[in-house]
Amino acid sequence: MSKVYTIDVKSCAGCGLCASDCQSMAINQDNIEGKFSINSSLCTGCGSCATVCPLNAITVQK
Ligand code: SF4
Ligand code: SF4
Repeated sequence: MSKVYTIDVKSCAGCGLCASDCQSMAINQDNIEGKFSINSSLCTGCGSCATVCPLNAITVQK
């Protein structure tokens, strides 16, 4: 089973860098708050988004 990545909405600044980086198109913006979240059914667990987030808002559950 692949790792589960999640975005901490309180830390996310809505910059969109992670969504641009995700090759699986698994990260989308919440229209109301402008925050981003990961669609776990599309995420492959590559971890790339976690490395690009300048605020370290993306973490993995082991
Ligand atoms: S890169 Fe980080 S701060 Fe920017 S939208 Fe993604 S989770 Fe939020
Ligand atoms: S771990 Fe990889 S596939 Fe999953 S949301 Fe981040 S960049 Fe996309």
